[in-house]
Amino acid sequence: MATDCIFCKIVSGDIPADIVYEGDHVIGFRDINAQAPTHVQIIPREHVAKISDFDPSRDTAWLVELFQAAQKIASDEGLDKGFRLVFNNGALSGQSVLHVHMHILGGRQLSWPPG
Ligand code: 5GP
Ligand code: ZN
Repeated sequence: MATDCIFCKIVSGDIPADIVYEGDHVIGFRDINAQAPTHVQIIPREHVAKISDFDPSRDTAWLVELFQAAQKIASDEGLDKGFRLVFNNGALSGQSVLHVHMHILGGRQLSWPPG
């Protein structure tokens, strides 16, 4: 756990969140500033700052569960007509929280390209 990381504090329960998925390696919770009817953050329990730091000798369990969680959340939220998964990585992408998180967005027509 990184003591100054807001998402680590959500994992530990020190900061409240609307949690929609809890697994062995991953949790999912609603974004505090939702950009779509469904906007959930799916994160590893373990602190890894960004996808660039992903290490396949260490991180495969949470990576697989991240996508299993996305499937379950999409199903639970009724996103059968489509949804989007997004990782921002680094300053130019707009990543604002340095703890890996996959956005799942759905429930409205999404535009492309992103800004
Ligand atoms: P990023 O811009 O880093 O890809 O996404 C970070 C996301 O985390 C943003 O969509 C932001 O609204 C969300 N977020 C930041 N702080 C909190 C928080 O304390 N609680 C929740 N639920 N979401 C947060
Ligand atoms: Zn963290």
